[in-house]
Amino acid sequence: MNALAATSRNFKQAAKLLGLDSKLEKSLLIPFREIKVECTIPKDDGTLASYVGFRVQHDNARGPMKGGIRYHHEVDPDEVNALAQLMTWKTAVANIPYGGAKGGIGCSPGDLSISELERLTRVFTQKIHDLIGIHTDVPAPDMGTNAQTMAWILDEYSKFHGYSPAVVTGKPVDLGGSLGRDAATGRGVLFATEALLAEHGKGIAGQRFVIQGFGNVGSWAAQLITEAGGKVIAISDVTGAVKNSNGIDIAKLMKHSAENRGIKGFDGGDAVDPTSLLTEECDVLIPAALGGVINKDNADGIKAKYIIEAANHPTDPEADEARTPKILPQNKARICCHNSTHTLTDSGEMYMFVVQILANKGVLILPDILANSGGVTVSYFEWVQNIQGFMWDEEKVNRELKTYMTRAFRDTKEMCRSHHCDLRMGAFTLGVNRVARATVLRGWEA
Ligand code: GLU
Repeated sequence: MNALAATSRNFKQAAKLLGLDSKLEKSLLIPFREIKVECTIPKDDGTLASYVGFRVQHDNARGPMKGGIRYHHEVDPDEVNALAQLMTWKTAVANIPYGGAKGGIGCSPGDLSISELERLTRVFTQKIHDLIGIHTDVPAPDMGTNAQTMAWILDEYSKFHGYSPAVVTGKPVDLGGSLGRDAATGRGVLFATEALLAEHGKGIAGQRFVIQGFGNVGSWAAQLITEAGGKVIAISDVTGAVKNSNGIDIAKLMKHSAENRGIKGFDGGDAVDPTSLLTEECDVLIPAALGGVINKDNADGIKAKYIIEAANHPTDPEADEARTPKILPQNKARICCHNSTHTLTDSGEMYMFVVQILANKGVLILPDILANSGGVTVSYFEWVQNIQGFMWDEEKVNRELKTYMTRAFRDTKEMCRSHHCDLRMGAFTLGVNRVARATVLRGWEA
């Protein structure tokens, strides 16, 4: 199932639980604005290369639209649309005064030189500068982009509008970036995991973690979990995977990864097949890379008790059609209904959803719009600091982040209780309800 279909499916389930008016539901689903621009740059060798850039501004009922810009070869309009929608619900779950947006350029950043990336970023900014702004839409880093990318956007935007540090977040600290922003998503993952484990009388210490992804989010999460006494026993990135049941030395792995552009060849554990990483024996599994990685092909094999969605949309809820007959005779349907990995729809269709497979195994999933909201939360702190013209110390940033993450978890649990639903639907109903209320208050009836 593509990311947009999956996200919209979650939204519609939440709208149903909340009993939303169907017109309001439709309006909340349709993006506010979708931008698609052509970006042509001269390459270092003098030839021209063209790329397509996107910015989807999903909703602004609760404040300026907010979300990252992704550079990745798989960027496509549906994915950007889905991620923009997720940002709307995520900022609402975090209860920060923003709407949602997302951008991206379909390119392979690893194949571009620094100066080519700079030219591409500047051309993209020239094309969208009139549509973003401090109180309109505030971009940030995402997969394949970083603080330097934000510095180029800030510089290019400022040529048109005057110096405006608050137009992007995730900037270098020297240009008004916030202390603690680089680690924020990983630190938020730690706080959210602590809150979930505490519900079950557990702490980070003594738990065994498997982390997929060793970029900004995965590497910070690994570091902070280790500092908190957790044991990270397996990690993968695009170059390979490593396993060490005694716990991986994260500081050593960071050094190796920086020197070798990846974890491949690391001697602090056994090299394992990256595709088997998600089904490793562990307590907590943290997908911190691409979307759709937990799917019908591996859901059965997952052994973790908890999945913390540090990536956006890592769980693909697609029905396993290959293993599921479409229409079943009545008696078979009854048999299958006892096997609760199946859902029998009103029309007699049988579906086996990945989420149900995991639920039946007792796996608890902390959903992306809650688990990875630490990044955009500290982006909000950065924006506030820029507007105030006053810089917070790192201790204050981290303390406030903990307050926001803990509150978001508590509010989600409250929705789970009142709507008798799992954590994903708890977070979706929380976010969708806040956006729906803001929309109605601003004059939906007009
Ligand atoms: N790209 C991050 C996310 O998906 C951060 C967005 C932001 O800080 O605006 O949440």
